[in-house]
Amino acid sequence: MADLAELVPRIAATMAARTARGRVANYIPDLAKVSASHFGMVVITADGREHAAGDADLAFSIQSISKVFALVEALASHGEGVWQRVGREPSGGAFNSIVQLEAEAGRPRNPFINAGAIAVTDLITDGDDPRAGAGRILRLLRDLAGTQGIAVDGAVAYSEAATGHRNAALAHFMKAHGVLTGRVEATLSTYFHQCAIAMSCRELARAGRFLMNGGVDPASGRRVVSPEQARRINALMLTCGHYDASGDFAFSVGLPAKSGVGGGILAIAPGRASIAVWSPGLSPQGNSLLGTAALEELASAMGWSVFNPD
Ligand code: GLN
Repeated sequence: MADLAELVPRIAATMAARTARGRVANYIPDLAKVSASHFGMVVITADGREHAAGDADLAFSIQSISKVFALVEALASHGEGVWQRVGREPSGGAFNSIVQLEAEAGRPRNPFINAGAIAVTDLITDGDDPRAGAGRILRLLRDLAGTQGIAVDGAVAYSEAATGHRNAALAHFMKAHGVLTGRVEATLSTYFHQCAIAMSCRELARAGRFLMNGGVDPASGRRVVSPEQARRINALMLTCGHYDASGDFAFSVGLPAKSGVGGGILAIAPGRASIAVWSPGLSPQGNSLLGTAALEELASAMGWSVFNPD
């Protein structure tokens, strides 16, 4: 097995030298301002050691990675009731796809596509103030990362709201089917704010530690979710965390992971490590190109695929 202290900087150097970096998301105008040249990586192992390289401490827009933490909040307040709203099947479609909703009575396939995440966010939206629901996610992230320095990027949230017609269409369609119960505008605003949370790879890897550790945050000893919920969240990340590239990600990396169009990926090696990578250039499916390549190198060098025999 490779030595992480040597491996993590070596992977970052390999990624820095790559010229094919993918395209930065531009359908949210404020995300298009970020340079494709960034690369950051942090690996936190079960013994608490942190290995960081590149732009590990630069905050980026976590976007759809927030869907994992919204699900944690919804499970905390609604338990198994969450699954009445949203399924657990990979969609095989794009993150913002609308077609399945029509065929499936407005019930989204899983909590990690946009429709499913909006349905989950509807459960934690509280009244008309987006700061209430998004604040729950923010508090959770600050608590898990051990810092008050994590915040919503207001310009990104505004940019998303101004251009988020497709998400609005998904939300209204689900409302028409009774899948959303709150006021659509409030749910959408909460969703745009949670997606606009900005944090660094180091903070994100720290926030993910409970998922490598059966639901308990190893830093504080706090139980965040039950062991069964931790296992299920990891299962959903593996099968649905990369949209229509989830099968390919399982094939090449073999770890539960959730991507966002800001270029971040949170990956979990159960019992072994919580990993965050960030590189803003995306694949056509909207997943970080170099982030995926880096995780593939890491998982292979460490033998961390969940499909390995030990
Ligand atoms: N906020 C983005 C959207 O709703 C999140 C998408 C993503 O990260 N895949 O379009």
